[in-house]
Amino acid sequence: MGVIETSTKGHTMGTNTRRHEGRYRMGKRNEDGRTPLYIDGSKDPVDFIWSTGHGGRPWTTENTPDFHDRKWKAAERVVDMVDARRAAVERRPVPAAVPEGYRQASWEEIALSGIRRVMVPEETAYVDPAHDGTPDGGPRFVTRWSDPVRLVDVTWLSRVAHHRAEYGDFMNVNMITAGGFRSTHWPEGDHAIALGALVPVDTPLLTVSPSFCAECGADSALYAAGQRVACGPCTARRLGWEIESLPHPHFESPKALYAPGTLVEMRVPRGDGGTDIHTGTVKEWHVRLDGTSTKPIGYEAANVRVSFDVSRYGADNCRASELRKIDALAPKSTEDATMTTISSTASRPDMIRLRFLGSTL
Ligand SMILES: [Zn+2]
Repeated sequence: MGVIETSTKGHTMGTNTRRHEGRYRMGKRNEDGRTPLYIDGSKDPVDFIWSTGHGGRPWTTENTPDFHDRKWKAAERVVDMVDARRAAVERRPVPAAVPEGYRQASWEEIALSGIRRVMVPEETAYVDPAHDGTPDGGPRFVTRWSDPVRLVDVTWLSRVAHHRAEYGDFMNVNMITAGGFRSTHWPEGDHAIALGALVPVDTPLLTVSPSFCAECGADSALYAAGQRVACGPCTARRLGWEIESLPHPHFESPKALYAPGTLVEMRVPRGDGGTDIHTGTVKEWHVRLDGTSTKPIGYEAANVRVSFDVSRYGADNCRASELRKIDALAPKSTEDATMTTISSTASRPDMIRLRFLGSTL
Protein backbone atom coordinates (compact mmCIF):
# COMPACT_ATOMS: atom_id res chain seq x y z
CA MET A 1 0.00 0.00 0.00
CA GLY A 2 1.28 3.40 -0.90
CA VAL A 3 0.76 6.59 1.02
CA ILE A 4 -2.67 8.11 0.51
CA GLU A 5 -2.29 11.15 -1.63
CA THR A 6 -3.68 14.43 -0.42
CA SER A 7 -4.66 16.48 -3.39
CA THR A 8 -4.82 20.24 -3.38
CA LYS A 9 -8.61 19.97 -3.75
CA GLY A 10 -8.94 18.19 -0.43
CA HIS A 11 -10.06 14.84 -1.81
CA THR A 12 -9.10 11.89 0.33
CA MET A 13 -9.92 9.13 -2.13
CA GLY A 14 -6.64 7.36 -2.65
CA THR A 15 -5.28 7.32 -6.16
CA ASN A 16 -1.75 6.33 -5.29
CA THR A 17 -2.36 2.61 -5.64
CA ARG A 18 -3.64 0.65 -8.59
CA ARG A 19 -6.82 -0.51 -6.88
CA HIS A 20 -8.91 -0.68 -10.02
CA GLU A 21 -6.47 -2.28 -12.42
CA GLY A 22 -8.32 -4.48 -14.86
CA ARG A 23 -11.53 -2.49 -14.57
CA TYR A 24 -10.51 0.24 -16.96
CA ARG A 25 -8.97 0.37 -20.40
CA MET A 26 -7.47 3.36 -22.17
CA GLY A 27 -8.27 3.64 -25.86
CA LYS A 28 -6.24 5.17 -28.68
CA ARG A 29 -5.42 8.81 -28.16
CA ASN A 30 -7.52 11.09 -30.32
CA GLU A 31 -6.07 13.71 -32.66
CA ASP A 32 -6.92 16.35 -30.09
CA GLY A 33 -4.77 14.60 -27.50
CA ARG A 34 -7.57 13.17 -25.40
CA THR A 35 -7.42 9.49 -24.45
CA PRO A 36 -10.82 7.75 -24.17
CA LEU A 37 -11.28 5.77 -20.97
CA TYR A 38 -13.50 2.67 -20.88
CA ILE A 39 -14.66 1.26 -17.54
CA ASP A 40 -16.04 -2.19 -16.71
CA GLY A 41 -16.18 -3.12 -20.38
CA SER A 42 -18.24 -0.09 -21.45
CA LYS A 43 -18.77 0.29 -25.20
CA ASP A 44 -18.51 4.08 -25.09
CA PRO A 45 -15.81 6.01 -23.26
CA VAL A 46 -16.82 7.03 -19.74
CA ASP A 47 -14.33 9.90 -19.68
CA PHE A 48 -11.35 11.35 -21.55
CA ILE A 49 -7.88 11.74 -20.02
CA TRP A 50 -5.69 14.59 -21.18
CA SER A 51 -2.55 16.39 -20.12
CA THR A 52 -2.04 20.07 -19.51
CA GLY A 53 1.56 19.47 -20.54
CA HIS A 54 3.08 21.41 -17.70
CA GLY A 55 3.71 21.17 -13.95
CA GLY A 56 4.26 18.12 -11.80
CA ARG A 57 0.64 17.01 -12.10
CA PRO A 58 -0.40 17.44 -15.70
CA TRP A 59 -2.96 14.60 -15.94
CA THR A 60 -6.65 15.20 -15.54
CA THR A 61 -9.93 14.17 -17.15
CA GLU A 62 -12.97 15.94 -18.52
CA ASN A 63 -15.24 14.88 -15.68
CA THR A 64 -12.97 14.98 -12.63
CA PRO A 65 -11.51 18.09 -11.02
CA ASP A 66 -8.15 16.68 -9.90
CA PHE A 67 -4.68 16.74 -11.43
CA HIS A 68 -2.27 13.80 -11.16
CA ASP A 69 1.41 13.07 -11.76
CA ARG A 70 0.65 9.83 -13.60
CA LYS A 71 -1.89 9.10 -16.33
CA TRP A 72 -3.15 5.88 -14.66
CA LYS A 73 -3.98 7.85 -11.49
CA ALA A 74 -6.40 9.98 -13.48
CA ALA A 75 -8.05 6.76 -14.67
CA GLU A 76 -8.21 5.37 -11.12
CA ARG A 77 -9.87 8.57 -10.00
CA VAL A 78 -12.59 8.20 -12.65
CA VAL A 79 -13.33 4.66 -11.45
CA ASP A 80 -13.62 6.00 -7.88
CA MET A 81 -16.16 8.57 -9.08
CA VAL A 82 -18.16 5.96 -11.02
CA ASP A 83 -18.26 3.70 -7.94
CA ALA A 84 -19.30 6.56 -5.64
CA ARG A 85 -22.13 7.52 -7.97
CA ARG A 86 -23.30 3.93 -8.27
CA ALA A 87 -23.26 3.50 -4.47
CA ALA A 88 -25.27 6.70 -4.04
CA VAL A 89 -27.91 5.41 -6.45
CA GLU A 90 -28.08 2.08 -4.62
CA ARG A 91 -28.41 3.83 -1.25
CA ARG A 92 -31.14 6.15 -2.49
CA PRO A 93 -34.42 5.22 -0.83
CA VAL A 94 -37.37 4.48 -3.09
CA PRO A 95 -40.88 5.83 -2.39
CA ALA A 96 -43.27 3.07 -1.36
CA ALA A 97 -46.20 2.53 -3.70
CA VAL A 98 -49.64 3.52 -2.43
CA PRO A 99 -51.56 0.22 -2.22
CA GLU A 100 -54.60 -0.12 -4.43
CA GLY A 101 -57.75 1.09 -2.69
CA TYR A 102 -55.88 3.70 -0.62
CA ARG A 103 -55.11 7.38 -1.09
CA GLN A 104 -52.97 9.88 0.76
CA ALA A 105 -54.77 12.17 3.24
CA SER A 106 -53.56 15.01 5.44
CA TRP A 107 -53.73 14.77 9.24
CA GLU A 108 -56.14 17.70 9.20
CA GLU A 109 -58.55 15.80 6.97
CA ILE A 110 -58.19 12.68 9.10
CA ALA A 111 -58.81 14.59 12.34
CA LEU A 112 -61.72 16.61 10.99
CA SER A 113 -63.50 13.67 9.35
CA GLY A 114 -62.72 11.41 12.31
CA ILE A 115 -61.11 8.84 10.00
CA ARG A 116 -59.71 5.98 12.06
CA ARG A 117 -58.70 3.26 9.63
CA VAL A 118 -55.36 4.39 8.16
CA MET A 119 -51.88 3.25 7.20
CA VAL A 120 -49.21 5.41 8.82
CA PRO A 121 -45.64 6.04 7.62
CA GLU A 122 -43.45 3.26 9.01
CA GLU A 123 -40.21 4.36 7.38
CA THR A 124 -39.40 7.55 5.56
CA ALA A 125 -36.55 8.94 3.55
CA TYR A 126 -34.28 10.87 5.88
CA VAL A 127 -34.75 14.62 5.88
CA ASP A 128 -32.27 16.54 8.00
CA PRO A 129 -34.58 18.62 10.20
CA ALA A 130 -31.96 21.33 10.56
CA HIS A 131 -32.00 21.80 6.79
CA ASP A 132 -35.70 21.31 6.40
CA GLY A 133 -37.01 22.79 3.19
CA THR A 134 -33.62 23.33 1.62
CA PRO A 135 -32.10 21.20 -1.13
CA ASP A 136 -29.81 19.65 1.54
CA GLY A 137 -32.88 18.27 3.26
CA GLY A 138 -33.89 16.08 0.34
CA PRO A 139 -37.40 15.17 -0.74
CA ARG A 140 -39.92 13.84 1.76
CA PHE A 141 -41.48 10.51 1.03
CA VAL A 142 -42.54 7.30 2.69
CA THR A 143 -40.42 4.20 2.04
CA ARG A 144 -42.68 1.80 3.97
CA TRP A 145 -46.32 2.12 5.06
CA SER A 146 -47.65 0.32 8.12
CA ASP A 147 -50.37 -2.30 7.97
CA PRO A 148 -53.85 -0.79 8.53
CA VAL A 149 -54.20 0.52 12.09
CA ARG A 150 -57.03 2.12 14.08
CA LEU A 151 -56.29 5.62 15.31
CA VAL A 152 -57.01 6.53 18.92
CA ASP A 153 -55.86 10.14 18.94
CA VAL A 154 -53.71 12.61 17.10
CA THR A 155 -51.84 15.56 18.61
CA TRP A 156 -49.96 18.26 16.77
CA LEU A 157 -47.80 20.47 19.01
CA SER A 158 -45.75 23.47 18.10
CA ARG A 159 -42.47 23.97 19.87
CA VAL A 160 -40.93 27.03 21.38
CA ALA A 161 -39.50 29.19 18.63
CA HIS A 162 -35.83 28.25 18.81
CA HIS A 163 -36.55 24.52 18.88
CA ARG A 164 -39.09 24.94 16.13
CA ALA A 165 -36.50 26.48 13.84
CA GLU A 166 -34.23 23.50 14.37
CA TYR A 167 -36.61 20.55 14.58
CA GLY A 168 -40.01 21.70 13.38
CA ASP A 169 -43.24 20.76 15.15
CA PHE A 170 -43.95 17.62 17.14
CA MET A 171 -46.61 15.06 16.40
CA ASN A 172 -47.96 12.21 18.47
CA VAL A 173 -50.32 9.52 17.19
CA ASN A 174 -51.77 6.74 19.32
CA MET A 175 -53.22 3.74 17.54
CA ILE A 176 -54.36 0.15 17.83
CA THR A 177 -52.34 -2.25 15.70
CA ALA A 178 -52.55 -6.01 15.21
CA GLY A 179 -49.97 -6.24 17.99
CA GLY A 180 -51.88 -3.96 20.38
CA PHE A 181 -51.69 -0.33 21.44
CA ARG A 182 -48.89 1.69 19.93
CA SER A 183 -47.82 5.26 20.58
CA THR A 184 -45.78 6.90 17.87
CA HIS A 185 -43.95 10.18 18.34
CA TRP A 186 -42.59 11.99 15.39
CA PRO A 187 -40.06 14.33 16.97
CA GLU A 188 -39.30 15.70 13.50
CA GLY A 189 -42.96 16.53 13.28
CA ASP A 190 -42.87 18.61 10.12
CA HIS A 191 -41.91 15.45 8.30
CA ALA A 192 -44.80 13.41 9.69
CA ILE A 193 -47.24 16.26 9.23
CA ALA A 194 -46.29 16.72 5.59
CA LEU A 195 -46.55 13.00 4.78
CA GLY A 196 -49.99 12.43 6.32
CA ALA A 197 -51.34 8.87 6.14
CA LEU A 198 -53.14 6.57 3.73
CA VAL A 199 -56.90 6.16 4.00
CA PRO A 200 -59.16 3.70 2.13
CA VAL A 201 -60.74 5.40 -0.89
CA ASP A 202 -64.07 3.85 0.16
CA THR A 203 -63.92 5.39 3.66
CA PRO A 204 -67.57 6.07 4.60
CA LEU A 205 -68.31 9.54 5.96
CA LEU A 206 -70.70 10.30 8.79
CA THR A 207 -73.69 12.27 7.50
CA VAL A 208 -75.88 14.75 9.34
CA SER A 209 -79.09 13.65 7.64
CA PRO A 210 -81.73 12.86 10.30
CA SER A 211 -83.19 9.75 8.74
CA PHE A 212 -83.64 6.03 9.20
CA CYS A 213 -81.25 3.38 7.91
CA ALA A 214 -82.63 2.17 4.56
CA GLU A 215 -81.28 -1.30 5.21
CA CYS A 216 -82.37 -2.07 8.79
CA GLY A 217 -84.60 0.87 9.75
CA ALA A 218 -82.43 1.87 12.69
CA ASP A 219 -82.76 5.43 13.91
CA SER A 220 -79.10 6.29 14.26
CA ALA A 221 -76.26 8.18 12.63
CA LEU A 222 -75.90 7.34 8.96
CA TYR A 223 -72.76 6.83 6.92
CA ALA A 224 -72.41 7.61 3.23
CA ALA A 225 -70.16 5.20 1.34
CA GLY A 226 -70.26 5.49 -2.43
CA GLN A 227 -73.94 5.56 -3.43
CA ARG A 228 -75.09 3.82 -0.23
CA VAL A 229 -76.27 5.51 2.94
CA ALA A 230 -76.77 3.26 5.95
CA CYS A 231 -76.32 3.10 9.69
CA GLY A 232 -72.95 2.28 11.28
CA PRO A 233 -73.54 -1.46 11.84
CA CYS A 234 -74.95 -1.97 8.31
CA THR A 235 -72.10 0.02 6.74
CA ALA A 236 -69.43 -1.81 8.76
CA ARG A 237 -70.93 -5.19 7.88
CA ARG A 238 -71.05 -4.42 4.16
CA LEU A 239 -67.42 -3.16 4.12
CA GLY A 240 -66.20 -5.95 6.38
CA TRP A 241 -64.90 -3.42 8.90
CA GLU A 242 -65.09 -3.42 12.69
CA ILE A 243 -67.61 -0.78 13.72
CA GLU A 244 -64.87 0.99 15.72
CA SER A 245 -63.02 1.57 12.47
CA LEU A 246 -65.77 3.75 10.98
CA PRO A 247 -65.00 7.47 11.08
CA HIS A 248 -66.21 9.26 14.17
CA PRO A 249 -65.62 13.01 13.95
CA HIS A 250 -65.38 14.98 17.16
CA PHE A 251 -64.88 18.48 15.87
CA GLU A 252 -68.17 20.25 16.12
CA SER A 253 -67.25 22.53 13.26
CA PRO A 254 -65.64 20.36 10.64
CA LYS A 255 -64.38 23.34 8.68
CA ALA A 256 -61.86 24.70 11.13
CA LEU A 257 -58.73 23.08 12.46
CA TYR A 258 -55.98 25.60 12.87
CA ALA A 259 -52.38 24.52 12.41
CA PRO A 260 -50.02 25.54 15.22
CA GLY A 261 -48.66 28.99 14.49
CA THR A 262 -51.98 30.25 13.08
CA LEU A 263 -53.11 33.61 14.50
CA VAL A 264 -56.71 33.52 15.76
CA GLU A 265 -59.22 35.61 17.65
CA MET A 266 -61.95 34.59 20.07
CA ARG A 267 -64.92 36.80 20.91
CA VAL A 268 -66.14 36.54 24.48
CA PRO A 269 -69.43 38.20 25.50
CA ARG A 270 -69.13 40.37 28.63
CA GLY A 271 -71.71 40.66 31.40
CA ASP A 272 -72.38 44.27 30.45
CA GLY A 273 -73.43 43.32 26.94
CA GLY A 274 -70.13 44.17 25.32
CA THR A 275 -67.66 41.76 23.79
CA ASP A 276 -63.99 41.15 24.57
CA ILE A 277 -61.87 40.16 21.61
CA HIS A 278 -58.85 38.06 22.51
CA THR A 279 -56.17 37.37 19.95
CA GLY A 280 -53.53 34.71 20.18
CA THR A 281 -51.45 32.01 18.53
CA VAL A 282 -52.50 28.37 18.15
CA LYS A 283 -50.03 26.14 20.00
CA GLU A 284 -51.53 22.71 19.56
CA TRP A 285 -54.51 20.70 18.47
CA HIS A 286 -55.54 17.37 19.85
CA VAL A 287 -58.34 15.10 18.75
CA ARG A 288 -59.51 11.79 20.14
CA LEU A 289 -60.93 9.42 17.58
CA ASP A 290 -62.35 6.66 19.74
CA GLY A 291 -66.01 6.20 20.63
CA THR A 292 -68.90 5.51 18.26
CA SER A 293 -72.12 7.33 17.51
CA THR A 294 -73.98 4.97 19.83
CA LYS A 295 -71.20 4.88 22.46
CA PRO A 296 -69.86 8.45 22.56
CA ILE A 297 -66.86 9.06 24.77
CA GLY A 298 -67.73 11.12 27.80
CA TYR A 299 -64.99 13.73 27.92
CA GLU A 300 -63.57 16.57 25.94
CA ALA A 301 -62.61 14.92 22.69
CA ALA A 302 -61.15 17.68 20.59
CA ASN A 303 -59.55 20.93 21.41
CA VAL A 304 -57.27 23.61 20.10
CA ARG A 305 -54.83 25.19 22.54
CA VAL A 306 -54.29 28.88 22.02
CA SER A 307 -51.80 31.16 23.73
CA PHE A 308 -53.78 34.38 24.15
CA ASP A 309 -52.01 37.68 24.67
CA VAL A 310 -53.88 38.15 27.97
CA SER A 311 -53.72 34.60 29.28
CA ARG A 312 -52.29 33.82 32.70
CA TYR A 313 -52.14 30.11 31.91
CA GLY A 314 -49.78 29.91 28.94
CA ALA A 315 -52.41 28.41 26.68
CA ASP A 316 -56.16 27.79 26.88
CA ASN A 317 -58.21 24.96 25.47
CA CYS A 318 -60.69 26.31 22.97
CA ARG A 319 -63.33 24.95 20.67
CA ALA A 320 -62.22 25.29 17.08
CA SER A 321 -65.64 26.68 16.17
CA GLU A 322 -65.13 29.63 18.55
CA LEU A 323 -61.95 30.72 16.81
CA ARG A 324 -61.49 32.77 13.71
CA LYS A 325 -58.29 33.10 11.71
CA ILE A 326 -56.80 36.60 11.63
CA ASP A 327 -53.82 38.23 9.95
CA ALA A 328 -52.25 40.00 12.92
CA LEU A 329 -52.42 39.98 16.71
CA ALA A 330 -54.13 42.91 18.42
CA PRO A 331 -51.72 45.50 19.74
CA LYS A 332 -50.76 45.02 23.40
CA SER A 333 -53.46 46.35 25.70
CA THR A 334 -52.93 48.87 28.47
CA GLU A 335 -52.69 47.48 32.02
CA ASP A 336 -56.32 48.38 32.79
CA ALA A 337 -57.64 46.74 29.68
CA THR A 338 -55.57 43.64 30.41
CA MET A 339 -57.07 43.31 33.87
CA THR A 340 -60.56 43.51 32.39
CA THR A 341 -59.99 40.87 29.75
CA ILE A 342 -58.25 38.51 32.19
CA SER A 343 -61.20 38.58 34.55
CA SER A 344 -63.69 37.96 31.78
CA THR A 345 -61.61 35.06 30.49
CA ALA A 346 -61.16 33.52 33.92
CA SER A 347 -64.86 33.73 34.75
CA ARG A 348 -65.94 32.15 31.52
CA PRO A 349 -67.87 28.99 32.54
CA ASP A 350 -67.31 26.86 29.46
CA MET A 351 -63.58 27.48 29.24
CA ILE A 352 -62.18 24.03 29.98
CA ARG A 353 -58.66 23.67 31.27
CA LEU A 354 -56.88 20.38 30.71
CA ARG A 355 -53.41 19.33 31.66
CA PHE A 356 -50.86 20.28 29.08
CA LEU A 357 -50.55 17.50 26.52
CA GLY A 358 -46.96 16.43 26.27
CA SER A 359 -43.77 18.38 26.30
CA THR A 360 -43.04 21.34 24.08
CA LEU A 361 -39.30 20.66 24.15
ZN1 LIG B 1 -78.76 -0.25 9.36
